[in-house]
Amino acid sequence: MDIKSGFVATIGNTPLIRLNSFSEATGCEILGKAEFLNPGGSVKDRAALFIIKDAEEQGLLQPGGTVVEGTAGNTGIGLAHICNAKGYKCLIIIPETQSQEKMDMLRTLGAEVRPVPAVPYKNPDNYVKLSARIAAETPNAIWANQFDNLANRRAHYETTGPEIWAQTDGQVDGWVAATGTGGTYAGAAMFFKDKNPDIRCVVADPMGSGLYSYVKTGEISTSGNSITEGIGNSRVTANMAGAPADDAIQVNDHEALQAVYQLLYKDGLFMGGSVGINVGAAVKLAKQMGPGHTIVTILCDSGARYQSRLFSQDWLKSKELWSDSLLPSNF
Ligand code: PMP
Repeated sequence: MDIKSGFVATIGNTPLIRLNSFSEATGCEILGKAEFLNPGGSVKDRAALFIIKDAEEQGLLQPGGTVVEGTAGNTGIGLAHICNAKGYKCLIIIPETQSQEKMDMLRTLGAEVRPVPAVPYKNPDNYVKLSARIAAETPNAIWANQFDNLANRRAHYETTGPEIWAQTDGQVDGWVAATGTGGTYAGAAMFFKDKNPDIRCVVADPMGSGLYSYVKTGEISTSGNSITEGIGNSRVTANMAGAPADDAIQVNDHEALQAVYQLLYKDGLFMGGSVGINVGAAVKLAKQMGPGHTIVTILCDSGARYQSRLFSQDWLKSKELWSDSLLPSNF
């Protein structure tokens, strides 16, 4: 028998998918870890679980307690699911500028959603800082603190990295992924370098994020912007600090969209925008390294979460990002 014990035991052990059209075009094996198949629908299920388990092990979270986080996205969705499965309350602090769909989704999952005014990070009432204060004032509560809580990258050092290693028999030449908190990239990169320092570890970065310049020059500087969600940063989080990075590759929104639509129409994979950045960067890395290499990246979440944006011609036109090259007949 092969039966998983509930939601929590279903997190991880995702397939590693050969991205056929991209592999054939580059002569490399371009492989995507299918994190959209996690039960909460994204790569963030792993971090959410490790953060909660870590708090339980430290005795910070007792039965019936509350998990508090400032988040607008996949981490909140992962936390809300796990809280239901483990009997905790989930309190999500969210900027009131976020879409109604996201708030409705979290409420449907049973989380308490507290919208707060959107103010910059340096303001003490910024939603992330507020979430820390609210957690501190709430009895039997933890602040998940995904950006700086190292349980996040440990999830990927202990699970994502070893799974990829086993699935490829250790035949990995390159690892490339975009970063939000940095947990996924850093945890897997640290694991790969421990196994084989020759594995090339490369940060993928959207426009408007400061990590490309940070890896290249040691200084954060930003230019441009991106419609991708959940990735890019203008600071080095605790999860990214000290992570090995041999190089960084920047991918713009046109390139990311071309990759997202090729995944959809040639590979049958309906993916979100951060996957476009990841796969766009994997193709650039394949061209740099040359044919015959195996390059691994992350398929973070599904396109269904972005249907009204990434997959709406009208919306893309409003952002001046539509191109007829995205029509199905071009693939
Ligand atoms: N893609 C998506 C869609 C995400 O929501 C996130 C997390 N914010 C990431 C990629 C990046 O993951 P990490 O936080 O581990 O860097």
